Amino acid sequence: MPRIDPSTVRVATRGTSRAINRQIVLDLVRAHQPISRADLARAMNVARGAVTTLVNRLIDEDLLVEGATDSSTTQRGRKPTFLHVNASRRVVVAVDLRVSESYVLLADLMGRPVADVVAFETLREPRALARRIAKIIDALREAHAPGLGCEGVGVVVPGMVDRATSRVINAPTLGWKDRDIRTPIATATGLPVQIENSGRACALAQLWAVRKELPSRGDFVFVSVSDGLGVGVVVNGEVLRGRHNIAGEFGHVPLSIDGPICACGATGCWEAYVSNRATVARYLRRPVDHIAVDATTAPVSIAEVMAAAQAGDARAMAAVQTTARYLGLGLGSIVNALDPDRVYIGGELTLAWDVIADTVRSALSERVLTQAATRVELLVVPPQESPRLLGAAALVAAPAFSSTGVA
Ligand SMILES: [Zn+2]
Repeated sequence: MPRIDPSTVRVATRGTSRAINRQIVLDLVRAHQPISRADLARAMNVARGAVTTLVNRLIDEDLLVEGATDSSTTQRGRKPTFLHVNASRRVVVAVDLRVSESYVLLADLMGRPVADVVAFETLREPRALARRIAKIIDALREAHAPGLGCEGVGVVVPGMVDRATSRVINAPTLGWKDRDIRTPIATATGLPVQIENSGRACALAQLWAVRKELPSRGDFVFVSVSDGLGVGVVVNGEVLRGRHNIAGEFGHVPLSIDGPICACGATGCWEAYVSNRATVARYLRRPVDHIAVDATTAPVSIAEVMAAAQAGDARAMAAVQTTARYLGLGLGSIVNALDPDRVYIGGELTLAWDVIADTVRSALSERVLTQAATRVELLVVPPQESPRLLGAAALVAAPAFSSTGVA
């Protein structure tokens, strides 16, 4: 059984919501299943009786199931019973809002897809966007999860989100400033909605995934290269937010103040050099200003540029390699600032990782201050793993992050 570190769990105390304890139990079972009630009580650092009440209620709600799955027996000859998340009884909806195109995924409580991803055009007007999303969700639930309850809708946006109000403070690529996107979606769907910055949601999903083959401890950064550049930072098991929700916005740290115009209005931001728009602009031999290439009307897509690069097209390869060099230079700033254990990189650019890895690594080495730190682990999360959609799913499937010291 995976070792559980009780120091990472903070059980909600008197006065806080019972719903939080319920989510802690769900999260712990999800991360460590199969798990016995005794181990669960130990992990939560509470008496077994307290866990029993919570667990029984979750079993009544069909969210947990209990069964003897281990052939070993206890000293008294009794087979231990183990708890599992009943992942198929409820669904969650994940929405990835992007400038170029947006996506909806219907998933189970473990974040596993229950239907193919649906792509749709990103409407900028919140109520029209909400109606479109609601229509897609209704169709997906009817076809793939009839009669099943839905925990809610997780939405990731390419911008900064106010944690208290859930308003989008600034999403430069979408042109949203201080916009309420959550309420229209909640109204149109009749479901609870959680909204978060894409980079942070990706970082949350990495914490949530608890992949047994990967280390789950240590500081890390998630860099999501898309129409813009989303960065999520996890330090001491918590996603960094800062006083005004802009902590970790490395995408808008300048590589050169005389550089190209960024979607945020400033010049020379890292994002302006490495976004998919920049790569497409390089391929089209246009200036790498965000205004030079509109992701929705560009004659080629990033997917096509990446496919051409993989097929050996010299022009596409040159564009991708230039982006890779800027990616490495910016990663150098992150390593110098945070010195993390590892950096996850997501986005279409990673499709050519085998040919750009050396370029990224050598640019990073140019900037990083110590030899040891240049060896920071770089881990690619391929687009097929849909890290942004997984992040969106985690927002609703695992809201207890806020009480397990993660958010
Ligand atoms: Zn910027």
